[in-house]
Amino acid sequence: MTLKVHNTATRSLQAFEPLEAGIVRVYGCGPTIYNHAHIGNFRTFLFFDLVHRYLDWSGYEVRFVMNLTDVDDKVIESAVESGITITEKTTPFGEAFLADSSTLGIRPAESYPRATDYIGAMVDFVQRLVDGGHAYPADDGAVYFSIASFAEYGRLKGIDTSTLKVGARVSHDQYDKEDARDFALWKAATAEDEQVEAAWDSPWGRGRPGWHLECSVMSIAELGETLDMHLGGEDLVFPHHENEIAQSEAATGRPFVRHWMHGRHLFVEGKKMAKSLGNFITLRELLDEGHDPAAIRHLLISSHYRGDLNFTRQGLEASGSALQRLLDFESRLKGLAVDAGADPSGLATIASEAVESFRGAMDNDFNSADALAVVFGFVSSVNAALDAHPAVIAADRDAALAALHSMDEVLGLLEVASASRVVDDDLAAYVEQKIQERSEARANRDFATSDAIRDELTGKGIVLEDGPDGTRWKVG
Ligand code: AMP
Ligand code: ZN
Repeated sequence: MTLKVHNTATRSLQAFEPLEAGIVRVYGCGPTIYNHAHIGNFRTFLFFDLVHRYLDWSGYEVRFVMNLTDVDDKVIESAVESGITITEKTTPFGEAFLADSSTLGIRPAESYPRATDYIGAMVDFVQRLVDGGHAYPADDGAVYFSIASFAEYGRLKGIDTSTLKVGARVSHDQYDKEDARDFALWKAATAEDEQVEAAWDSPWGRGRPGWHLECSVMSIAELGETLDMHLGGEDLVFPHHENEIAQSEAATGRPFVRHWMHGRHLFVEGKKMAKSLGNFITLRELLDEGHDPAAIRHLLISSHYRGDLNFTRQGLEASGSALQRLLDFESRLKGLAVDAGADPSGLATIASEAVESFRGAMDNDFNSADALAVVFGFVSSVNAALDAHPAVIAADRDAALAALHSMDEVLGLLEVASASRVVDDDLAAYVEQKIQERSEARANRDFATSDAIRDELTGKGIVLEDGPDGTRWKVG
């Protein structure tokens, strides 16, 4: 079996082959960091993570880069509303995004380029397009890409551009395919841009980059002129990725991306989850409600990335149960008393067959739904085998555990579950220590200290209950 991936550009499954043997260069369009990412965004970033982890698991050297958009129309609008600069706006949300990603077990990228660190390279890139006859400065102070200069414009989305009006322009970052027009590579600075420090010098006067330009410049700077894979949510096909292809190929004269991959959007109670619809749920909200990040991860990867996925609390409960089944299974294997005199029970064969089926599922365009079915089928078979023959030799037990952990290197469920439980252990140790200090203070009739400790714990959401057997605590 070889890896097959669905390429949006050809609308078909293709055998995956990187440009350079053994190395995969992957660029994912990251979040715009002006507020907290919602779990729809995280469905997309978990799709990236599965790609990243599975390529790694398959033995490739993966060079995975994801940008953080820290200047665009939306960032500026939001900084203006808050009366702060774009850097003040985006810095905390960039940090929050990376923290949330780590909570969900998303492996770090090789780098997270931010657009504001690449302004010089963007200006050079625009100049190159102007020099090559693919872009022109207009009387509004902006520089536009001339889509008439790029014959393949519209191919990715599959739109017929033969009827488009030459020279008609659009200056917003976001627009529909009906508005396919010359788009802004560089925009003239407005008073508001200056106010939020989103303006730089350029040969065309003070201005700032357009959003589409950012990804072309950063991906080429970090990974080279031809990428093996470029990932994003389905809404990015047009105009974002269409424009990226046009700019990049017009500038370099080389194919920009070998495989375009797009993830389907998450729905919530039957509607697309979107900031604009106000029906979005952030990761933090779910964690505050007490949901396990591993269960959230399970839910968000439980459907193939191109398949439908509808978020419901009920679905999240079901994911919690699935996760518990996996944890119980791991404990059962770890706790098995091995018996050197037992007959080989066939667990090693079940284990190696499971790993092969898992590979088959993931090779089929990263089908995590099928891969999860393989894992849970494995759990059932091994449980049934152990019920029938509880005595196993060490080699059988070890093979089953190794298979479970190997598949989890891609799925990351046990990994996230154990990471979040370690945090709980740390918290427990901290609270126990504080309770001890408080009892000592009370024994010394130092009530100021004992009250201060109680307040400190209350501030962290810990409720103390003093009883006859000492002090008990819970998360309130
Ligand atoms: P943004 O921060 O809006 O630039 O979005 C970051 C990424 O999340 C993009 O790749 C979007 O396609 C993706 N995205 C936005 N909404 C959803 C959704 N409901 N489900 C899945 N991905 C989404
Ligand atoms: Zn992008």
